[in-house]
Amino acid sequence: MAQKILIADDSPTIVEMLKFALSSEGYEVVTACDGVDAIEMVYKEAPDLILLDILMPKMNGYQVCRLIKGDRDTTSIPVIMLTGQDQPKDKFWGLETGADDFIIKDFESMALFEAIERILKEQKNVSSDKRLNKKETVSFDSILSRLNELLDKKLFQTTLMNLVNHIAQTEDKCEDIVREILHVITRVVNYHVGMILLKENDETSHLTVYVNQAVNETYIHTMIEKIKQDAMKYLGYSIDKTNIHITTFNQAANIPSKEVVLPHKHKTYTSLPLMAHKDVIGVISLSSPDDNMFNGEVIDILNVVINESSIVINNVMLHEEIKRMAITDGLTKCYNHRHFQEIIANEFNRCKRYNSFFALILIDIDHFKSVNDVYGHRMGDSVLREVSACLKKCIRDVDFIARYGGEEFAMIFPATKLSSAHQTAERIRQSIENMAFSELPAERQITISLGVSSYPEILAQTQYELIERTDQALYRAKHGGRNKAEIAV
Ligand code: GH3
Ligand code: MG
Ligand code: MG
Repeated sequence: MAQKILIADDSPTIVEMLKFALSSEGYEVVTACDGVDAIEMVYKEAPDLILLDILMPKMNGYQVCRLIKGDRDTTSIPVIMLTGQDQPKDKFWGLETGADDFIIKDFESMALFEAIERILKEQKNVSSDKRLNKKETVSFDSILSRLNELLDKKLFQTTLMNLVNHIAQTEDKCEDIVREILHVITRVVNYHVGMILLKENDETSHLTVYVNQAVNETYIHTMIEKIKQDAMKYLGYSIDKTNIHITTFNQAANIPSKEVVLPHKHKTYTSLPLMAHKDVIGVISLSSPDDNMFNGEVIDILNVVINESSIVINNVMLHEEIKRMAITDGLTKCYNHRHFQEIIANEFNRCKRYNSFFALILIDIDHFKSVNDVYGHRMGDSVLREVSACLKKCIRDVDFIARYGGEEFAMIFPATKLSSAHQTAERIRQSIENMAFSELPAERQITISLGVSSYPEILAQTQYELIERTDQALYRAKHGGRNKAEIAV
């Protein structure tokens, strides 16, 4: 059976020329003289390909193309746009409306015929159920209302995308951006609990739980388990208690009275991967205790939000990563010297102003040079990593540890007096003394010397003076035989 081509052009000369040329190539040809006529012919004739002029009466080629590509029944019919001139902007808009090709009207050239042949050949591979089967008659009114609907849908999508982008301009922390994105979704999708799980470094994840409408604890727990399963599917690693941090925003807190029975089970659930630069960066899930909440239209809307959000989230994550790298020591993953100076300056000034107090401990590994000399620099690095890991374990979440220099560390303990800092120092000293190192022979012990101080018990005028006096205490520990903690004077 001959393949059918629809030619839509308001110039009878062009229509006749093309009709003649294509018929002699063996194609069946049908024609339309304006945009509305073209749409009618598409539904009536179900052509295999459309040649579409841009400037036509009643409806232009861009609008016709959008309508054809916006309808599931006709979206797979290939469209070649024909234009009189070669303007980049026309080509851009033509292809953006969904056209498969864009060709300048120059019938001397073989480009049009080659494109037709190529596209029809590709079209043969499209399964028949994707093509328009039933032929129907459509009225002018219905074409107009479809066009309006489509324009409205595009405007809706653009507004939604702008809203997501606006978040990136007003918020700069990943956590706030994720919360705001889940909030934007509440404005267009009726859901109870939404979650965004993001991949951090080293296979750890951060999960944001947004409770939009009240549900009970079991419901939330089930949703967390479900998104962990989905994360495994999309991100390729399993998530348990040890590698996930959870932040919950409960918009529904305190709203229902005690007598209200909260939903404990979801009935509708959907989850989608967040993609940026072809990588899966996370997963989003939405759920509701009601049936069939997320139909095709909701999924279309979600896809718009998610596509835009993925880029926004990826950018803020990269930004945070760069900021984190700027204050982190690469080898030990402790804070670096520069950040230590910032933190101690803040802490010193805060305590001076508000009559508060903090402690400082400086640590230096004993005879570390000989570790390098005997076992090599690489082994030395490994010891530094293991010492820093042990030091991190010895402190509270509110305390702060930095790599002060080569094999030196500094610790800041907010709201800590000298005596308790000294006890902590002693505990840390013992922990290191008792450590077994993975790459050193069992008999090779590592010890540290420590200098301990606390402001304002050690009444320094500046943080530099406090550091200097703590360093002198450390020096005394060294000269007193090492593996000791000395208090500053
Ligand atoms: P002391 O007990 O007096 O502190 O003796 P020490 O050998 O620990 O002190 P010294 O200051 O003489 O030597 C410190 C050594 O630490 C020298 C340096 O090569 C080594 N070092 C500094 N940074 C690194 C690092 O990143 N990796 C390794 N492997 N070694 C380092
Ligand atoms: Mg040293
Ligand atoms: Mg040393």
